Amino acid sequence: GEKPKIVVLGAGYSGMMTIIGLQKQLQYNEAEVILVNQHPYHYFTTKLHEPAAGTRHHEAARVLIEQVIDPRKVTFIQDKVKGIRPQDKQVDLVNREEPLTYDYLVIGLGSAPETFGIRGLKENAFFIRNIDSVRMIREHIEYMFAKYRNEEQREEYITIVVGGAGFTGVEFVGELVDRMPSLCREFDIPREKVRLISIEAAPTVLPGFDPELVQYAVKYLEEQGVEFRINTPIEQCDEDGVTLKGGEEIKAATVVWTGGVRGNRLIEEAGFETMRGRVKVDEYLRAPGYEEVFIIGDCSLVFNDEGRPYPPTAQIASQQGSKVAKNLISLLRGGEMQPFRFDLKGTLASLGRHNAIGVIGKRKVFGSTASFLKRANDLRWLYILGGVPLVLRKGFI
Ligand code: FAD
Repeated sequence: GEKPKIVVLGAGYSGMMTIIGLQKQLQYNEAEVILVNQHPYHYFTTKLHEPAAGTRHHEAARVLIEQVIDPRKVTFIQDKVKGIRPQDKQVDLVNREEPLTYDYLVIGLGSAPETFGIRGLKENAFFIRNIDSVRMIREHIEYMFAKYRNEEQREEYITIVVGGAGFTGVEFVGELVDRMPSLCREFDIPREKVRLISIEAAPTVLPGFDPELVQYAVKYLEEQGVEFRINTPIEQCDEDGVTLKGGEEIKAATVVWTGGVRGNRLIEEAGFETMRGRVKVDEYLRAPGYEEVFIIGDCSLVFNDEGRPYPPTAQIASQQGSKVAKNLISLLRGGEMQPFRFDLKGTLASLGRHNAIGVIGKRKVFGSTASFLKRANDLRWLYILGGVPLVLRKGFI
């Protein structure tokens, strides 16, 4: 008979890990595997704050998919998913008239910004989402610095507001701090004129993180000139900047929102039951009601033993991908699936290129040790994707 057909949507951490697992373990004729992704490359979402701030070129944050997959085992289709119809077992793509059919579907389409209904944010803020969006941020900041020199020297041109001081926000601010000396030199602007403002609605920076580490991060970033505004929800964003709760306005030509993510819209449009766009999957990472549909990464919701959802991370996304690959192989060979259990290895947040904070097991790490571990982790991902050659090609840009 026909070979079973596995379709994987999205080449992010979860989708790539599924593909890597499948191509390692599958025999040539066991299944037809199709990967769909809107760009010809996989990008490292966890590193996008670097090209966004301009501290590293975006080439260091992506790799061509064709350089990573085995074409004898995996067919890559570069296209954008338009819709998923699980009742029909079909997927609609933008540039293809015929829908894709599948026996098994793996959805790893990642997240989208959550703006919590804050007025004007969607229209006027930038988002750290993908290579295209971070290139815009870097260029926009440079353009505004140039404008400050060339036109009336208005403070808002060189004021950067970062909305949200969670992981992404803090990592981005850390990169901005590193970027400022060279940027200011390039545009003949004294560093002390530039304002970097991090705004957070919660009562603390990095909510949920160890207080001692939070204190370390805040102290370091404040010493580098970052202004923190905690307990301060942004109420509105417009062309001139942001308005805070209580009415205070901060004029800023650059507003970057990192305050939250939700699952990809395609998930709820497909009719799956969602919470903030994410599907509460079963222990095998399947969508309720669909035995052949696996949902992983930022589109999925997995609960810990205390009944709280794990935050969406690359770490859980890649573990999920690897588990789904194993389980698919089992299914194809008539075996049993194993339930997914998340194994938290640790958490690390960078504060620019030479500083970081984190927790590994029960141990807190700071400074250059944490920074080294973070970097080792990035290299590990390159190694998983493409072995030593990829580590050498991308790891040291
Ligand atoms: P993604 O990796 O985002 O991949 C989704 C893929 O789907 C993308 O390739 C996208 O192009 C594709 N896609 C989307 N829509 C379509 C469509 N319609 N058609 C076709 N393709 C589509 N996590 C950590 O564990 N550690 C960290 O240190 C860390 N740091 C982070 C720093 C930043 C700046 C950011 C933004 C996130 C960070 N995260 C970190 C979170 C982590 O990046 C995400 O949780 C992770 O990328 C989720 O993986 P995913 O596979 O679900 O989605």
